[in-house]
Amino acid sequence: MPMNAMYELEALDTWREGSVCADRTDVDFFPSPDDIGAIASARAVCGSCPVRDDCLAFALETNQSDGIWGGYTPAERSKLRRVWLRDLKAAS
Ligand code: SF4
Repeated sequence: MPMNAMYELEALDTWREGSVCADRTDVDFFPSPDDIGAIASARAVCGSCPVRDDCLAFALETNQSDGIWGGYTPAERSKLRRVWLRDLKAAS
């Protein structure tokens, strides 16, 4: 990986310092897709997280395929990512 790409990835990752989930070992942020209760619990934590937007942006940019990021499930992020990519392409 080129050095400038590594730097960009590190910069993208600084938002984690404000994450609420870092201290929530009681909540599963990588629940099974059919575990509605666990998904709801993770979403509730994300709802009060100050870096939620950055978390979601990171997940979309790095195409995270598992877990709850920014309060969204993988299926929800997949739809959001298609729109995000379309908008990115339209803006370039
Ligand atoms: S939005 Fe949710 S998954 Fe993302 S950092 Fe905050 S608590 Fe963690």
